[in-house]
Amino acid sequence: MSTAVTTVPVSTVPVSTVPATPAPTSLALVGPALVGPALAGELHSLGAFDAELCMNCGICTATCQLGIDVLPRQLMRFGVLGLREEVRQQEEAVFSCLLCRACEASCPAGVHITDNIRMIRRWLLEEET
Ligand code: SF4
Ligand code: SF4
Repeated sequence: MSTAVTTVPVSTVPVSTVPATPAPTSLALVGPALVGPALAGELHSLGAFDAELCMNCGICTATCQLGIDVLPRQLMRFGVLGLREEVRQQEEAVFSCLLCRACEASCPAGVHITDNIRMIRRWLLEEET
């Protein structure tokens, strides 16, 4: 037994049902630039930092036994994008990491996650001095 299929020509769909997305008219609408490469350079200068290899898949964060949302995927992204204030705000999480490398063992990109966390710790400590 066949099922009847009713098709509607595209041209009959009223254009007014498609919501319009207004284009920004000035940069003021999206705020000042908050990202930059300088922080990644500082982290590289402290030692082994390879967070740029991260594909942002989230497996490491799902693996982490601490269950801290921001570790390590978001934290490393903050470092690569130069989001200094976001890194500072995660100081407690950064120093809570056990450096157990469970996340690292699951990383499909081979990111040296614990080395990156160590570099971020050093950066935070240098910031305080
Ligand atoms: S598992 Fe590796 S590639 Fe995936 S988010 Fe974590 S560090 Fe990035
Ligand atoms: S090394 Fe740190 S971030 Fe990675 S699984 Fe262990 S506690 Fe979590």
